Amino acid sequence: MKAHTRSGIREISQKHGFRRSDSLGQNFLVDKNIIDKIVESADIDEDSFVIEIGPGMGALTESLIEISGKVVAIEIDSHIIPLLEENLGKTDKLEIINQDVLKADLSEIIARERRRWKVEGRTIGKVAVLGNLPYYITTPIIMGILEKEVEMDTMVIMMQKEVAERIVAKPGSKTYGALSVACQFYCETSYVTTVPRTVFAPQPKVDSAVLRLDRRKVLPWDVEGRELFFKVVRAGFNQRRKTILNSVSTIEEIDKVGLSDILEGLGIDPRRRAETLSIEDFAKLTKEIGRRG
Ligand code: SAM
Repeated sequence: MKAHTRSGIREISQKHGFRRSDSLGQNFLVDKNIIDKIVESADIDEDSFVIEIGPGMGALTESLIEISGKVVAIEIDSHIIPLLEENLGKTDKLEIINQDVLKADLSEIIARERRRWKVEGRTIGKVAVLGNLPYYITTPIIMGILEKEVEMDTMVIMMQKEVAERIVAKPGSKTYGALSVACQFYCETSYVTTVPRTVFAPQPKVDSAVLRLDRRKVLPWDVEGRELFFKVVRAGFNQRRKTILNSVSTIEEIDKVGLSDILEGLGIDPRRRAETLSIEDFAKLTKEIGRRG
């Protein structure tokens, strides 16, 4: 296994005549300490089922196979798969799917795996989704998993540092926005570590960070109309500089007078901006708008 060293990646690539693709975000991890940190932070064991997004040459995959019960690795680039297979060798603990993860049905993959484990007399204790994600589709991958309510327990993912900061941002900070609300609505989020650009081959232009997202099994907010909730959130952050009264009253469900009444009733100053509202505030606001609509 050489996928986590610069010389190893060069050697394997030359042997297979593999040319990396910039457009697929192929920046490979070459630091064993970071690899260990990512894998450890997912808290997985032999009762865990892991879906890895974008295994590349298998830098993370090898450790994941060792620790977990089974890994399904989804990789879009058919040219890299022979390298991945050669690196990892044959094992029942790994299944490689050559597909665009955005088109993969993760819920079906998990359901199928549960059935397989059951036949073998085992039960999946934890479903974890891991990956050093390609930067160009980080947000659609995460939001796809959350919005489709894929029944995973934990996601540990590496992404561009700026995106990671937006995901974990709290109300009142400059980076707090619709992405923060969406991710924190569905998950408890935590910042695991910053990863400098120097530990990738080739080196990207930006630094990265690893986040852990634990799916909330029960949502703590009373949000009946989820569609309306996200509409209110998006309207609020679409025009960040406007007051909450001016930005949210752009949706057709409520006019300015009605919204002003609601905000007053909730004790939310209408001059506040969306970036100061908590998820709880957005949830209460949505409930009242829904009631009047
Ligand atoms: N896991 C490896 C590592 O850490 O060295 C590779 C990470 S590299 C940043 C991202 C990987 O995702 C590449 O192998 C790339 O081919 C793959 N990839 C890019 N777009 C993808 C997609 N839509 N679906 C699945 N895999 C994708």
